Amino acid sequence: MQPPRSEPIYLDNNATTRAAPQVLEAMWPHFAEKYGNPSSLHQLGLDASDALGTARAQVAKLIGARSPERIVFTSGGTEGDQTALHAALRAHPKRRRIVTTTVEHSAVLEPLAELERDGVRVDRVNVNGDGELDLEALCAQIGDDCALVSVMWANNETGAVHDIARIARECRERGVWLHVDGVQACGKIAMQVDELGLDFVAVSAHKLHGPKGVGALYVGPRVEFAPLLRGGPQEHERRAGTENVPAIVGFGRAAQLASAWLADSDGARRVAQLRDRLERGLLERIPHCTVHAAAVARVPNTTNLRFDGVSGEAVVMMLSGDGICASTGAACASSRHRPSHVLMAMGLDAAQASSSVRFSLSRFTTEAEIERALEATPVAVAGLRTLAGSLAN
Ligand code: PLP
Repeated sequence: MQPPRSEPIYLDNNATTRAAPQVLEAMWPHFAEKYGNPSSLHQLGLDASDALGTARAQVAKLIGARSPERIVFTSGGTEGDQTALHAALRAHPKRRRIVTTTVEHSAVLEPLAELERDGVRVDRVNVNGDGELDLEALCAQIGDDCALVSVMWANNETGAVHDIARIARECRERGVWLHVDGVQACGKIAMQVDELGLDFVAVSAHKLHGPKGVGALYVGPRVEFAPLLRGGPQEHERRAGTENVPAIVGFGRAAQLASAWLADSDGARRVAQLRDRLERGLLERIPHCTVHAAAVARVPNTTNLRFDGVSGEAVVMMLSGDGICASTGAACASSRHRPSHVLMAMGLDAAQASSSVRFSLSRFTTEAEIERALEATPVAVAGLRTLAGSLAN
């Protein structure tokens, strides 16, 4: 028998989070006893339908949507993003242009590349070395030939937060819809989607201590919606397929917990303090180390650092051997072993981008865990530099 493994120190919360115990507790009855189909007319169906209504209200509250009817449950952020692109092009058959940024998640960039091959013009606005979006360039691109502007709220790799309020104003003035990939912002910073006048916002439960495979798309009041998935009346004819009730219930509970966490200003402050302590400690202990996007507003849980002269992947592997989970960037890009397009867009070369490591914390992260990461990371980097005979430690 294998000896029991001690709990990992999990600093990869932008990849996914552990489901909160209350979330699991809320989900379980919807597998075991309350397993009805929400479209059924009998009592079990009505109970399931009520549970969806509760979750819809909980998610709406978290993102600042006054009407729960604006929420369409999806299978996650990827589906929400693609539904928004699809709906915008369907609603504006004569507008064949989409404006986006160079630092979006692949859930936006890859479908856009395919649309481009089909003749849609895609303009990608760049960021500066701090990860800050060139807003003047973005505004200059927004015109009445645009079906959609698609900008992420917070970057998954660096945590940089974009000025969604300003972008929303510019889009409204020009009569262009705005889609916001809110996957990495949701549950980390306050979102007021109605107040900002957004048209679409995609969020995902597994980034905020909910289950995987469930998310939501906020659909604003001026949108003429076109479903991506057809074949059933679910979600008020906006997303066909029997709803994943246990997961949606779990998402609702996770959203409720996140709303409470955000309302308590100490919660976010504590996570930011731990992140800053990790960042400062690594800068003090590791020469030739740089924090990316340090000069701009970031979500409180994320830091992305470059350790010159070593491979970020090797650092992640060494840390994993010490029971510490970090990452080189987006989980899907990591598995493809490509240098980060986000860091390259910020002006880094491939070697620099490949020397970077992301640590992403959660409300469950403890001081002791940060101390362990502060002990282990300098040892890993120094060891790898010695092996490579590269920079002096
Ligand atoms: N958008 C961003 C910014 C993300 O970070 C992710 C996941 O990492 C996604 C979209 C995709 O979300 P999901 O995994 O729920 O499909």
